[in-house]
Amino acid sequence: MLQTIFPLPSVEDPDAASTLGEYIAVGYQVRARCTHAGCNHNVNLNLVVVARYLGTGHGTKSEDLEPYFYCPSCRESGLADDNIVFTRYAPTAPSCNISHRWVADRSAA
Ligand SMILES: [Zn+2]
Repeated sequence: MLQTIFPLPSVEDPDAASTLGEYIAVGYQVRARCTHAGCNHNVNLNLVVVARYLGTGHGTKSEDLEPYFYCPSCRESGLADDNIVFTRYAPTAPSCNISHRWVADRSAA
């Protein structure tokens, strides 16, 4: 079932962010990575899409997210779905700067 995600919660201490809504509000990115030997399949999660399904109050700890993710390559090979790790990235990369992205988006039009 889809959840309403707006308005996002206010976050006074980004280091204390612990829910999907707080992560989106702060600008954190989360990467899911498969740890099966030789796989290393990894992907950035679209937190807005995840929050639409799980709600903005859903936790962001590994145990909160693990039930909803698996590695398609390893599953197809018959391996267990329990080797996904989640890494949080602070919004420090240039691609996370909204004003720069806006300029890039407009210049591409
Ligand atoms: Zn895998």
